[in-house]
Amino acid sequence: MPINKASLIVFESFVKQRGRRKLRVIFLGPPGSGKGTQASRLSERFGIPQISTGDILRNAIVNKIGLGIKAKEYMDKGELVPDDVIIGIVGDRVNQQDCENGFILDGFPRTVVQAESFDKMTEEMSIPVDVVLSLNVNEEMVVKRLCGRMVCKDCSTNYHIDFNLPKKKGICDQCSGKLYHRPDDEEDVVRNRLRVYKETTEPLIDYYQQKGLLRAIDGEEKIENIFKQLVSVLEVM
Ligand code: AMP
Repeated sequence: MPINKASLIVFESFVKQRGRRKLRVIFLGPPGSGKGTQASRLSERFGIPQISTGDILRNAIVNKIGLGIKAKEYMDKGELVPDDVIIGIVGDRVNQQDCENGFILDGFPRTVVQAESFDKMTEEMSIPVDVVLSLNVNEEMVVKRLCGRMVCKDCSTNYHIDFNLPKKKGICDQCSGKLYHRPDDEEDVVRNRLRVYKETTEPLIDYYQQKGLLRAIDGEEKIENIFKQLVSVLEVM
């Protein structure tokens, strides 16, 4: 059936309204599951900020602020930064003006203690989480993805030496920033990050399942297909 102009206008205004409604999302998934890539695209699609605790910590390291100096020793080994530090960072960040219409948390929470503190925080601030998206990817795929990953030091866009090369070697297509290989993407550190994920973060899948918030998505599909599935989940929130 052909789409007439009036129904197209109604549809467009519906999409715009969706873009403006409050939407609070948590992204779960092992390192290398594609959370960052998808969170960044969803952030643009729904007009809400992506909050990556890993990016916040890496910025603090680059800018040599106290937080970064403390965090670096944990990050270099693939260990988690202490809960109280991370909870403080996220508490400040979700209070900022740009989170008024929602946010996408990428890399937080990573422990049950973080999840419980965040529950308290969101209850006190009356900012309930709408959905927890969980990306499933097998371990060997994660190792392959991370060991070949290159990241833009300015805008954090991800590339891969085999599957997703930039147009110009070592330079970001998006912002012309320099690409680098994260020190914690070396294989021994990646394996440790996966161990930490299994022991400490994976229990959150059950935690959010019990709260009826979890939506699991196959993270081994093509980036575009995963994105479409995620959009369709968020559009009906
Ligand atoms: P990511 O960029 O999310 O892979 O995080 C990189 C590193 O930052 C992790 O391996 C941890 O050392 C640290 N980190 C990021 N988010 C958290 C968190 N929620 N809790 C503890 N450590 C974190």
